[in-house]
Parts: sequence; structure tokens; C-alpha cells
Amino acid sequence: MERVAHRMCPLCEATCGLELAVQDGKVTSIRGHADDVFSHGFICPKGAALRDLHEDPDRLRVPLVKRGGVHVEATWDEAFAEIGRRLPPILAAHGRDAVAMSLGNPSAHRFGLLLYGARLARALATKNVFSASTLDQMPKQLACGLMFGHWLSVPVPDLERTQLLVVLGANPVVSNGSMWTVPDFRGKAKAMQARGGRLVVIDPRRSETAELADEHLFIRPGGDVFLLLGIVHVLFAEKLVRLDRLAPHVAGVEQVEHAVTELSPERVGPRCGVEPSRIRELARTLATTERAALYGRIGTCTQEYGTLASWLVDVINVLTGHLDAPGGAMFPKAAAFAANTIGAPGTGKGITLGRRRSRVSGAPEVFGELPMTCLAEEIETPGEGQVRALITLASNPALSSPNGPRLAAAFDSLDLMISVDIYLNETTRHADVILPGLSPLEESHYDVAFPQLSCRNAARYSPPIFEPPPGALAEWQILLRLIAIASGRGANADLHALDDELTLADVQRVAGAQAPMLMKMLGEAAGPERLLDLALRGGPYGDRFGFVKDGINLARVQAAPAGIDLGPLEPRVPEMLRTPSGKVELAPPLLIDDLARVHADLARPAPDLVIVGRRQLRSNNSWMHNLPTLAKGPFRCVALVHPADAQRLGLADGGRARIASAGRTIDVTVEVTDEMMPGVVSLPHGWGHDQPGTKLTVATERPGANLNAILDDTRRDPLSGNAVLSGVPITMAPLR
Ligand code: SF4
Repeated sequence: MERVAHRMCPLCEATCGLELAVQDGKVTSIRGHADDVFSHGFICPKGAALRDLHEDPDRLRVPLVKRGGVHVEATWDEAFAEIGRRLPPILAAHGRDAVAMSLGNPSAHRFGLLLYGARLARALATKNVFSASTLDQMPKQLACGLMFGHWLSVPVPDLERTQLLVVLGANPVVSNGSMWTVPDFRGKAKAMQARGGRLVVIDPRRSETAELADEHLFIRPGGDVFLLLGIVHVLFAEKLVRLDRLAPHVAGVEQVEHAVTELSPERVGPRCGVEPSRIRELARTLATTERAALYGRIGTCTQEYGTLASWLVDVINVLTGHLDAPGGAMFPKAAAFAANTIGAPGTGKGITLGRRRSRVSGAPEVFGELPMTCLAEEIETPGEGQVRALITLASNPALSSPNGPRLAAAFDSLDLMISVDIYLNETTRHADVILPGLSPLEESHYDVAFPQLSCRNAARYSPPIFEPPPGALAEWQILLRLIAIASGRGANADLHALDDELTLADVQRVAGAQAPMLMKMLGEAAGPERLLDLALRGGPYGDRFGFVKDGINLARVQAAPAGIDLGPLEPRVPEMLRTPSGKVELAPPLLIDDLARVHADLARPAPDLVIVGRRQLRSNNSWMHNLPTLAKGPFRCVALVHPADAQRLGLADGGRARIASAGRTIDVTVEVTDEMMPGVVSLPHGWGHDQPGTKLTVATERPGANLNAILDDTRRDPLSGNAVLSGVPITMAPLR
């Protein structure tokens, strides 16, 4: 019998609803779920590859333990006994900071991993928490935290109602949004164009989004902050600032005006590579278009001015009257787990950075994390607080972090490394114990993070499609056992009791003395579903435990396989502001002070050649190259080079070349194309699957080159700690 099952795709931020046909325990087809209230049938090639992931013979189904330098299969009891034997003595002898955690991008897409990963961090009580955030979006989180009071209060373009979208350093045709959940961006952008709207893309590559755009401007990598400051200058100089409805809710306008007085387009234009006249036109168009939004992403974050550039994107949205306005940049309202729906304006504590610093470099903590680029030195450097054990959660920093080879060598010096991961990959090959979770089709799912970034409000839940194999553990169950060991209860603790205890503590944090009563109302369910029910019922659309008649709860969301539509984005200022002042803080002192770096850097000449990354439709960071559906077709890890650069460097289309930076080299295949800005080379990251000791049969056939291997792990945005991955100077020469 064939049956049809529905689930959200957990592979990227777009969270598309999928429809799967299942026969005899096998998936026979995957397509977009036409009735899904959020994605309306959209699917990309990665979604269809979920079947490959489920069936991948390389996907780990049982734990691996390293014996005599080789990974061998083990029972769950053996694996946890190994951890129970080795982890507590490290904690006892060297303290909590001796154990570090590294969280990868998939942690944000896995319900149990996200909720119980946070619990594991609390149980470990280590200051050494690292994640992919400081290789990606931490600058945006920090800027939004400073401006709006919470790091997940991120305004996103209201694309379905806008007339002008300006995209800076992002490629949403391929990504379907990043820090912006917008499935079928292409369709929505085309609809905007069909109703007379315009798409403008500013990027050092004529990307897939730029191909769709009405206008594309090249920009010098890392020059975003200069362009944005020039736009802000014009808005004030030409008296184009209009705050509209937001006027009583914005503080710091005068400080911003003062800060940009000397930064005219003529001064910043050479530094960003955009003509001053175009900077003026952009400012005027943004200010005079009734419904417009400016959106900046990965290119604006992964550079030395990441936080400043992320801040200025929303400064411009505010100054042009487009923040929190329909058709502008608006704040989603998530049904569950959204901090900006709890409390009231003026009750926020504000953002404090650097409550502690990394031991070796003194890098400040941001939102409880240290920069990923500090992890290697924290392992290598002896002394009080040295990292001696590491727990990775779906994290592959050996490929995804700058100077991965250094990090890989550091892993081998650890006393203990534990990886919760479904693959034996470039990072987990160093682990002493690997604990694999279930296939995404064997686990339930509710997207915790991305409704807070979605282009429309909705609540959707996916039940498991298949029963897990006998004895297999879900990620939250694995993490619960690690919590038991880390908190001194031992590998054989009563996990039900521990889960009850942790949930009661969570409920007490939000409900105080009413916690025991709420626990009773939540019933017997365990695991992430119980936390989800709590968050939905107490959330902005919730039934408030019976006090709101038509409010939602988990049972209601579960009863709607196509999801529950909660409506278009609506204006939320001042209700969602959690700054201590209750206002939008347009000029946080930390950011105004950091402009001194910009002034000192105005005259920096463009390097001869720099490198940037590239998002690709059939790839997402390092972990999808083992899926045959995605791996087939033309080889994609190629370096794009402008014809003028190719000619002066003697590079041939299809030829091989050596790229050097920071004293290291990689060898790549060259593609000569005028889609690149002269002086800029593009290579996707997440490749380099040629390491011994992995089990990635498909990926190792065409391993590609690891871009991050040649990036400098000492270069960071000093505010957010984000790695500088974009606009890095390189040299390039043909390989003969
Ligand atoms: S865009 Fe593709 S990978 Fe992303 S959620 Fe949709 S189907 Fe999945």
C-alpha cells in the first residue's frame, strides 16, 4: 500500500513543506506539499535528496568508538560507558571549562538537538561554547540585539508587498533566504517585478539573484560598510530622512547624523568600488519608494566590519521609513520560543558583551559564545582552563572554519572528543566516540528558530514518517544521557526523572510558582514535544492553558498537516522592542565608537586579488556532498575568475591553479567568467573531502578544495568575533 506523508524539510532555512509517497517502508517520491500554508508546494533539489539522506549507506546507525586508532561499531551502552568512564575525571581534575562544545549549522534545524543542546551547555557550565554562528551570522544577531533588544529580533523584507528590494551580499534565488525564511524567493521576486516592483542586487559576483535583478552593481568585497555609510550620509544631507510612524520610538538619530557628516559618497565611493552618483541614486530611490526594503546577508557579515554593516542595513530601513512598515523590513511573530513576545517594551536588560573573554586571545564572549576561530588555540595552549575535551553537535569545523588543518591537528591532542553526528566526516574522524541520531524521516520536527525569521507567520509540525530502528536513539535522548553524565548522575541515570527535572526548571523560569500546576497540564509527554506544547500554549497565539478559547496548542498544530497560517507580518513596534529604553536604539555607543576603524581605513587600496565564497543550490556547507542526487552533474567546486584576471595571471578556463593565502595553498579548477568582478575570485566552501579515515563514499569521489584551509584564523570582526571569510587577499598561479 502506498501512503502519503508530509513533513517540513529540515535541510535549510526555507523550511519547505514536503509531500512524500511511501511504499513498503521506502520513499518512492518527494515533491513540494501544495497545500502547505507557508511554502505552497515549493521544493528545491536538496529537499528531494532527503530520500538519499535517509537511505545513505554511509549514514551512521549505531555508535562508533575508537579502539586502537580505528572506529569500530559499539552498542549504545558501550558508547555511553566509555564516555561515563572518561568525561567525569576530566571535569573533576580540570574544571568545567576543560570541556568545550561546538555546535554546527544543522543544530538550528533539528528540534531535539537545538532544545537539548542548550540544556547540555547548561549542564556542562563551560564558558567554552563555540558555534557556526561566528562563521556566519553573529554580526547580524549582535546588531539586532543592540538595536532592538534581542538577537532574534531580525527584521526581514516583506517581499509579497514591496515595490523595491535591494539585496546586498546575498543570493536568495539560491538560498531561499538566510536569516530570512522565504521559500520560492524567485517566484516571489518575479511577482514583485510583475506588479511593477524592482530588484536591485549589489554583489561582487553577478549571482543567480543578480541575473534576475533589474539592476546589478559590483561592490568591492568588504566595502559594504562604506557604501552604506555613504547612503546614510545622503539621506541626511538631502533631507530625505522620514521616520513616519516610528518617530516616537527611535532614539539616536542625531548621533547617526553626526557620525556620517564626513562620509560623503565621494569619500566612500573609491573604498567600496561604487560610483558616488550611484550611491546617491540608491539613497534617493530607497527614500522615495513607498514600499521598499534593504536586505543584507552573508557578504555583509563575514568580513571585518560585519557588525557595522549589519547595523547600517537596518539604520537605512529606519531612516527611510521602511522598518516595521508593510512592504518594508518587518518583524515576524513566532508561535513558540520567541523571546520578543515575552515581557514588555522597556523591560529588557540590554546586551552585555564580554562578560568573559577567551583565555588565549582575550576575544569577548557574545551571547554566551566565543569565536569559533579561538577553538584551536584554546585546545593547543597549556595552562589553567585549557580545553581538554570537546563535544561536537552536528558540527564540522575541520572544513567550515578558517585554518581547518590547525583545528584538525588540535583535535588529535584532546583527551576526549565526543561527536553527536550522523556521518564519519572530516571532524568526527578525530572523535573517540560518535553518537548518531536518527534519519530526519524517523524524527518529529517543529522548526524552533526560523519562524522568527519567516516571511509570513505560521505554525507547522511534522510527525515521524518511519519508526526508528529498534534500540536507536533520537538526538534529544542522546543529549539527555550526556547531560546525565555531565551533571554527575552517571550513564545509567533515570532519564525520565531527569527530563522531568529539567522541564520543571524551564517552566519555573517562565512561570515561577505556577510551574507545578503547568507541569500537570502538560501531561505525561516527554522530550521536546512537551517543551513545544508549553511554548505554543504560552505563546502569542496560544490557548493560555484554556484561557484563550481558539488559541493553539501542540494538539491543534499536530492536527493540521498543512500547518496553521497565522497571517502576514504586521507592524510590531513598539510591542516587540526589548531594549532597556523601550525604543529602537539607532546609535548604540559600541557601534558609533567602532566607526573610528572605518575612518582609519578609508584610503586602503584594493588588493590585487581577493577571494569570496559562493552559495550553491545543490550544496549547503559541508555535509550534502555525499548524496548522489545532489552530487551528480557538473563539478561545482570550481574557482570563478574574471577574464582580465585570467589573462594577467596566465590562467586557462578548465585549467588547474594554485591559490595561496596565509602561508597555505589549495589547488583548484578554474572557470573563466565575466560574472566575477575584476580582482575577485569565488570558490564555494565546505569542500575538501579527501581526508583519510572518513566514510563519505560519494563525496570522496570528487573531493574539491577546502577554501577555509587557506583562510586566516586570526582575522575577526572585533565586535561579534565573526571570522573574516570574504574579501581575503590571495595570490593565484597556474599549475603546469
Ligand atoms: S529550499 Fe530546498 S533545502 Fe531548503 S527547505 Fe526548501 S526544499 Fe529544503
